[in-house]
Amino acid sequence: MSDLDEKALADGVLAGDRRALARAITLVESTRADHRRAAEALLARVLPQTGRAVRLGLSGPPGAGKSTFIEALGGMLIAQGKRIAVLAVDPSSARSGGSILGDKTRMETLARDPAAFVRPSPSAGQLGGVARRTREAMLLVEAAGFDVVIVETVGVGQSETTVADMTDMFLLLLSPGGGDELQGIKRGIMELADLVIVNKADGDLEAAAKRSEADYAAALRMLRPRTAEWTPRAMRVSSLKGTGLEDVWAAVEAHRDAIASGGGLAALRAAQAKSWLWAEIREGLMERFQAHESVAAALPAAERAVAGARGLPAEEARRLLDLFAGESGGETDR
Ligand code: GDP
Repeated sequence: MSDLDEKALADGVLAGDRRALARAITLVESTRADHRRAAEALLARVLPQTGRAVRLGLSGPPGAGKSTFIEALGGMLIAQGKRIAVLAVDPSSARSGGSILGDKTRMETLARDPAAFVRPSPSAGQLGGVARRTREAMLLVEAAGFDVVIVETVGVGQSETTVADMTDMFLLLLSPGGGDELQGIKRGIMELADLVIVNKADGDLEAAAKRSEADYAAALRMLRPRTAEWTPRAMRVSSLKGTGLEDVWAAVEAHRDAIASGGGLAALRAAQAKSWLWAEIREGLMERFQAHESVAAALPAAERAVAGARGLPAEEARRLLDLFAGESGGETDR
């Protein structure tokens, strides 16, 4: 892509053109070296126009009602004149080839709304790569003027932490359940939650939802809050009936006010940007290490040596790192 195309694409994104935005996101999702450079140039152009959206992370087990909730909350926000973007992080698609989140039939109503933008998860890649592309896609939707970005993920291990690390507030959506459901939710995920939302508080499930809400509120009180400024809460909603959604949005606004009293959003995002920098460094180092010629040549022997207990992993690793550092002009030996 030439400089001219990048400028046109950046202008399209900044003008809020959804087709330009979709193309720009496709560009940041590409792993081709020339695309990567073009993506970086594009992002540099739009960077001054980023950072204005409310960034929400949302997770929950399959079937909890995430897409129904996002449709309902999104519809409410659009009625208030806001524009809403939804990005999915689904590392499961990388592993299994199938996707828990990424199928196109989800959030159909929202996806058709001109005030919304719904982007399924990139279909391949390690969590690190998916995370990088999602962070960059978030910057692009902000540059395109979206007021709220929801980054959605499903409860598979590391992805919640990744999403919590790139958003301002992390919402955990759950179905009503018996007391033993509490054990099923990993403590680590509860610890990330700024808000636990019990969905499906309607009809026959209303009473169970009320009990679950109380159980989760009690569980949250046992955990140490992530920040001094905000105490996580539990609430219940019905995404189908649209009840409780105003309360969710009020909690989002209360959370914003609360963190403003500590270093505020700017401090939170500065810390996130720093950890993003380090993630990029780690990933970049790994890529270069694995692509390094003498390292690649020596690697199979080192792997065989440690697998056969003939080599000490620490020593083999040091040798490989020395090979890498030697030719990149760093220290060779100590
Ligand atoms: P996801 O896998 O978390 O995205 O869940 P979905 O949004 O696809 O919802 C899973 C199922 O739960 C669907 O059959 C929904 O109709 C149902 N569901 C979602 N929200 C509610 C709700 O508020 N009340 C009830 N009763 N069912 C709901």
